[in-house]
Amino acid sequence: MSTRGTPPQPAPDFTHTAESIISATKKLIDRSKLLEDSIAKEITKETATFNNVLQPLANEESDMSLEAHILGFYQYVSADKALRDASSEAEKLMDEYGIESGMRQDIFDLVDAIYKNPALHPEVPEAAWYLKKAHQSYIKNGMSLPEGSEERALFKKIKKELSELGIRFSKTLNEENGGIWFTKEELVGVPEDVISTLKVGEGENEGKIFLTYKYPDLLPTMKYCTNPETRRRLFLGNENKCDSNEKVFKDAVVLRDEKARLLGFDSHSDFVLSERMAKSKQKVQEFLGDLRQKLIPGGETEKAKLLELKKTKEPDSDHYYLWDHRFYDNLMLEKDYALDAQKIAEYFPLMNTIEKMFGIFEQLFGLEFFQVTDKKELEGKIWHDDCKLFQVWNKGYEGDDGFVGWLYLDLHPRDGKYGHAANFNLQPGFIDRHGKRRVPATALVCNFSKPTKDKPSLLKHDEVVTLFHELGHGIHDLVSRTIYSRFHGTSVVRDFVEAPSQMLENWCWQPEQLKYLSSHYTSKEALPEELIGSLVRTRHVNDALANLRQLHFGYFDLRVHGPSSHKEIVEMDPTVEYNELRTQITLLDPPADTDNKFGKGQTTFGHLMGGYDSGYYGYLWSQVFSTDMFYQAFKKDPMNPEAGRRYRKLVLERGGSQDEMESLKEFLGREPNADAFLEELGLKNN
Ligand SMILES: [Zn+2]
Repeated sequence: MSTRGTPPQPAPDFTHTAESIISATKKLIDRSKLLEDSIAKEITKETATFNNVLQPLANEESDMSLEAHILGFYQYVSADKALRDASSEAEKLMDEYGIESGMRQDIFDLVDAIYKNPALHPEVPEAAWYLKKAHQSYIKNGMSLPEGSEERALFKKIKKELSELGIRFSKTLNEENGGIWFTKEELVGVPEDVISTLKVGEGENEGKIFLTYKYPDLLPTMKYCTNPETRRRLFLGNENKCDSNEKVFKDAVVLRDEKARLLGFDSHSDFVLSERMAKSKQKVQEFLGDLRQKLIPGGETEKAKLLELKKTKEPDSDHYYLWDHRFYDNLMLEKDYALDAQKIAEYFPLMNTIEKMFGIFEQLFGLEFFQVTDKKELEGKIWHDDCKLFQVWNKGYEGDDGFVGWLYLDLHPRDGKYGHAANFNLQPGFIDRHGKRRVPATALVCNFSKPTKDKPSLLKHDEVVTLFHELGHGIHDLVSRTIYSRFHGTSVVRDFVEAPSQMLENWCWQPEQLKYLSSHYTSKEALPEELIGSLVRTRHVNDALANLRQLHFGYFDLRVHGPSSHKEIVEMDPTVEYNELRTQITLLDPPADTDNKFGKGQTTFGHLMGGYDSGYYGYLWSQVFSTDMFYQAFKKDPMNPEAGRRYRKLVLERGGSQDEMESLKEFLGREPNADAFLEELGLKNN
């Protein structure tokens, strides 16, 4: 691909050493501290204004984020353990400093004085919003607790402990490298292209192969292995792979509860939700409860059909186990819907699919992508040879052809790398202290299988959806145009952040777009009509069970973060809760004679530890909004450029710079509602 010329802002550098990560972090912290000291020294409550207190702090915050995100990013992607460790350490230092800085009495007093005097509120709406949010975060940091009091000290101590627990949890998860030695017979049914990449045993493991718990090994085995005992062992092994996180998780939920109660909230959920779109725990409980009631009948029917299918293979079985679901769900799709996922994957070679997705974004949002392929240009600009770098430019967007930002794709698994699919902001966009706009840099970190000698990496359709979803976050991050870095891109409330990505997933289910996105890796032909038909028909097959699974996470999240008393959480065993709720809600059977300690799902995914605590419901909640937006603006004509640009302008560009509900209402032209969501799930008239 050619390019439009030299971008006005170079891509960030990835030339750090373990030492420089730490020294750069310390330098950032010192600089920020120096600024706060000088503001505290020079400004009094009487002379404080937005421009002499908050604006300089915001400038510093923005400058800091240009380096800080990258310093903390190495821990997820670096192939060098020393760098990963240094990056974790850097994040820890920054978190500690963040707590320190967010609890400075002298600065809070100034912000509080400005906040309490309406005459000092800035006129620019985003600046006024900044003041409100900054003040709110001081309050949430315990600044309403009396200065010098025991409560204040305790609050601070808990925050520090929580930060350490969070880092320890994700380190254990990222560095987990377990798995199980299986014989070839035990892996019967698993596709050969998975088997051929596995480590072959020697000595005591002679004749066996090592299956890891990483997605490219785990998922196809759960889906295709015909030996139920293998699936059972793998399922349980995977759920128990991070045992040490069990205590970390429990400690964290107890501390969160204690912290929320110190501030006068009834629980951590009440504390968190007061600032979200949902606003209260009760609202979320109603939402989940209502949805569950609507989903149960469908879930029961789906389970009965799946059990019937299972009986064709295991006539004596009366149970439909947790480790049965992926297998029989897939078998049903193959049998009843003639869906051959492997066959469909042949039409979605990874890089080709990405280029086509870029094509969709070009048409919808007025963007253009150019890959940087020159080795010299890439020097020092990427963190691993697998990493791909793209320039993103406007193409006739509101008469603008300017540079939008940098996009990184890091697509394949490797040792020590983050094990899921996620988008990371590397540098936010904002207006700098000289009035000049900085453009963002963003990274997609995924784990799609690697290309082999004979085949490119081929994406299953659900991986195509994942890719589009994560690219959706990436686009949100790229096109955002806010004044302050604090509100950039996906820095929106947690119960809205998924909506833009979820909305884009719809494009992976439209026949026209599927035809456009696909190209067989040998024949270059588009996905044939009948395969498209069979795929689209499957979209909501066993969907009630899939949504009940999401509901389980949401219920569990509220359970551990919204106990009715502190005593209740102290005495609670989250593992038992997790398993009991799973059995009640997902309708899938646990192992026979269970003690409800058999699986520790809460220890193996990071959401509830890092950021989605009391926020997991947000996935379903924002799906209501995403479906509403899709039906209203795109369902009839998914490639409509006016609708795409309007969406970019009213929703994506704004990031968190105003109340998200306002952005949503302006785009919809009315209040959002759940009609489209229920219609999509076939539950409209229940
Ligand atoms: Zn997402």
